[in-house]
Amino acid sequence: MKRKTSKERTLTDGFGKPVEDDQNSVTAGRSGPVLVQDIHLIEKLAHFDRERIPERVVHAKGAGAYGHFEVTADVTKYTKAKFLNKVGKRTEVFARFSTVGGEKGSADSERDPRGFAVKFYTEEGNYDMVGNNTPVFFIRDAIKFPDFIHTQKRNPATNLKDPNMFWDFLSLTPESIHQVTILFSDRGTPATFRHMNGYTSHTYKWYNDKGEHYWIKLHFKTEQGIENMTGEEADEMRKVDPDHATRDLHASIERGVFPSWRVEAQIMTPEDAENYRFDPFDITKVWPHGDVPPITIGRMVLNRNPDNYFAEVEQSAFSPANFVPGIAASPDKLLQGRLFSYHDTHRHRLGANYHLIPVNQPKGTLANHYMRDGPMMTGDNGGAGPNYYPNTFNGPEPDIKAGEPAFDLQGKAARQRHDHPNSDFIQAGDLYSKVMSDQDRKHLISNIVGHMSGAEERIKYRQTALFYLANADYGKRVAKGLKLDLKRVKELASMTQEDRVKATV
Ligand code: NDP
Repeated sequence: MKRKTSKERTLTDGFGKPVEDDQNSVTAGRSGPVLVQDIHLIEKLAHFDRERIPERVVHAKGAGAYGHFEVTADVTKYTKAKFLNKVGKRTEVFARFSTVGGEKGSADSERDPRGFAVKFYTEEGNYDMVGNNTPVFFIRDAIKFPDFIHTQKRNPATNLKDPNMFWDFLSLTPESIHQVTILFSDRGTPATFRHMNGYTSHTYKWYNDKGEHYWIKLHFKTEQGIENMTGEEADEMRKVDPDHATRDLHASIERGVFPSWRVEAQIMTPEDAENYRFDPFDITKVWPHGDVPPITIGRMVLNRNPDNYFAEVEQSAFSPANFVPGIAASPDKLLQGRLFSYHDTHRHRLGANYHLIPVNQPKGTLANHYMRDGPMMTGDNGGAGPNYYPNTFNGPEPDIKAGEPAFDLQGKAARQRHDHPNSDFIQAGDLYSKVMSDQDRKHLISNIVGHMSGAEERIKYRQTALFYLANADYGKRVAKGLKLDLKRVKELASMTQEDRVKATV
């Protein structure tokens, strides 16, 4: 809390009228009932009654800070985005980090992916990178998202977190195995928001001045170094300080220790994407560094705390649909759903004019459009200017150069099934066998066993068969920890997913 510096300290109501007494309601006599004509009291209570807005359905608990992004490599060959067009160019950013499944009051140390969202206030409008601290995700199609999130929340009957819901869904969704393996490693409990990476996770399109396009993924690599908590440390932190990561980010910036991230890009040509050995738009997979080596393109530094949490962090609204010229969507099916959902949820949470809230307004340019009216229109609403297009009153005009180059689409419109189901296990297996240390594997197994022990036996078997398919040692060790019959796990692992489900209903 900072002391007010202004000399003008007279308390007023919301409309500026001085308030004579803020401690005693107007009553009839010393102890008599309160009079309804005490407008100040009524206004104060009525506003308090409306203080809460809907919390985010996901990513409810979070912290944020301002800073800048600086370009460190020439990428003009790949994108015409102006904020990326010169080495040394700086753009103001606002970043928000969060857990995903927990409510607004939940602990920062919960096992969960961490949201990693960055708003770039560019000269061509706001560009939002709305990613996570993991390079992959649990599902590859947005149609599964509401169901997936329900399983991470509370049981509708008991209002308790439920290991059966959690593992039932995941074991029925084998594409989740890669993300589950990251989530139950110590990367599922980062030490702080400063000590984790951020990833676009999705593939996006960059296009240049000539209209040529490239597919890209961005990685924000922490310059503080990756630091995680063990499962036990995270449990302990929940008791000691449920807000530890929020506190850490704020305190670090207050004492002048500014967190920073090196920003890397993986860039793939359309020809390479066409011939790639798996779907390069499948968010359950990374592009292995050996195939697509990351190049460093910039650096992000956070150096200013918000003055007011609700105004700037709670009301901040990010959307993966906020692109600037030079950046566009890919066909990633999860991304396509997110392009709709974020703006939509902000309209529900903050109102139709949420773009007018200062943290969400562009800072590098002016918004200039024909959207008018609606609740909480706090700007000039377009003033006396024209409110329709086309017009001959010098209203804003579209700029044809701002558009994404035309691209071809082909194929039959249908609910298409992913046709490489066995590929779900390869990268989870690689992570387990080639990337993790012995200690990482030990922690992974004990985190899984601890969490899954509350689930029904049949669900444990179904999920453990998936671990076995990713890597036999992985499956064996989970089976041992859960005291499952390994023969049965192997039998289930040898079946198709359909048969495995039938055998475990
Ligand atoms: P590499 O050996 O080139 O890269 C492995 C990467 O894994 C590291 O660079 C690091 O990425 C990340 N990593 C290291 N330890 C862990 C851990 N305990 N948990 C999760 N990630 C870790 O291999 P590939 O690129 O061929 O990928 C192999 C596997 O590594 C993948 O299947 C995937 O699971 C994982 N991975 C790959 C990433 C990629 O973009 N290629 C990114 C992250 C993980 P970082 O520096 O980003 O932390």
